[in-house]
Amino acid sequence: MKTSGMLDAKRDEEMEMTRVSTAQQEHPSPAFDDHWDERVDLAAAFRSAARLNLHEGVANHFSVAVNQDGTQFLINPNQSHFSRIRASELLLLDANDPGTMDKPNAPDSTAWGLHGALHRQCPHARVALHVHSIHATVLATLEDPRLPPIDQNCAMFFNRYAIDTEYGGLALEEEAERCCQHLADPAKTVLIMCNHGILVLGKDVADAFNRLFYFERAAETYLKALWTGQPLKVLSDEIAERTAQELDAYPGQAERHFSELKAILNAEEPDYAT
Ligand SMILES: [Zn+2]
Repeated sequence: MKTSGMLDAKRDEEMEMTRVSTAQQEHPSPAFDDHWDERVDLAAAFRSAARLNLHEGVANHFSVAVNQDGTQFLINPNQSHFSRIRASELLLLDANDPGTMDKPNAPDSTAWGLHGALHRQCPHARVALHVHSIHATVLATLEDPRLPPIDQNCAMFFNRYAIDTEYGGLALEEEAERCCQHLADPAKTVLIMCNHGILVLGKDVADAFNRLFYFERAAETYLKALWTGQPLKVLSDEIAERTAQELDAYPGQAERHFSELKAILNAEEPDYAT
């Protein structure tokens, strides 16, 4: 009986170790359990942005809100290259915590400025992607930075972006607060930040990433059309708005796009999800 009891205990211990080890694979720390899916998606967005050359050095930042009023959010660790970011490394911040920058492992100060202000001011902004991707940024340097609806991709953003023309330095405090005021209207899902870059919003990571991809693509098309020096054939407001509405209602495009990007990462660099 005694031997059998010892064997039972050993088997229970092994089963427990297996259970813990499996759980650790899925969730490296119990602290991550609540937001693991958001962590994986945000890490996939960083990796995919790097693959598409939307990143810049170790700057730029993405965030995803994880509580109901949007004030708690995940964001990239300070000065990490997008191509190396892992789900478990993302910082969980509270937009209303004034001591955030005094803590160890504090985020980049402009990341805190911009995303802290956004998640305080705009509870509808569940996901926010800020980049200086080249074509969107060139658009943001033009005296007239509007994106005319010259093709389907440009029409996707018709009446759906805001422009901040008052660049006054790095996105700290007042600069960040002013930028985010342009996004109070939930219908505006892209902010063209003149002389700086763009901020793209979405209801989830897939939605925001798809929008970022297409905005960069639309800006590239528009800029290359300008380079031809020929007059542009701009769609009417009516057709542009109809096209935008049709694209908004197009079933599952953002989700399918992002799940394909994740499938590529799962095959080629699965450590993003660790
Ligand atoms: Zn920036």
